[in-house]
Amino acid sequence: MEQLKVYIDRLKGGDKQKISCTLAPSVLDVQEEELTFPEDVQVTGEIYLADDHLIGHLNAKTTALMPCAMCNSITKVLIHIKDEYITVPLAEVRSAIYDLTPDIREMLLLQVPQFVECHEGKCPERETLKNYLAKPGLENTQSQSQPVHFPFADLDKK
Ligand SMILES: [Zn+2]
Repeated sequence: MEQLKVYIDRLKGGDKQKISCTLAPSVLDVQEEELTFPEDVQVTGEIYLADDHLIGHLNAKTTALMPCAMCNSITKVLIHIKDEYITVPLAEVRSAIYDLTPDIREMLLLQVPQFVECHEGKCPERETLKNYLAKPGLENTQSQSQPVHFPFADLDKK
């Protein structure tokens, strides 16, 4: 199934359309080196009409692959949407069938974190980097008589 179609007429009597479907990851339409979606998108929930809006009350789940911010190794990130509402004004629904797929796509992409770290946030490289970054600090305390050059100190004067 490549689309999540809602038949508006079937909802008009106040009925709810139950949703339980699997969308191919290609619906996310992301072709980036640093972000891929290798697994299907599982969507569950229900859709109904409320006044002049189409309401989707949805859960969605998939997996993203992103490089770890510390060591760059590809890391799995679970993208999980729970109890999210999608609201579409019926005035924007131009046919009897509304495709919810783009809304779900947007919802999922908003959940993608900007940075990830492997090993559930405990990247083994973190300690190494910390030690590496701490060294210049130690040298500074040992040579306090030396003038320290702050690269951005000049900015204040302008
Ligand atoms: Zn890492």
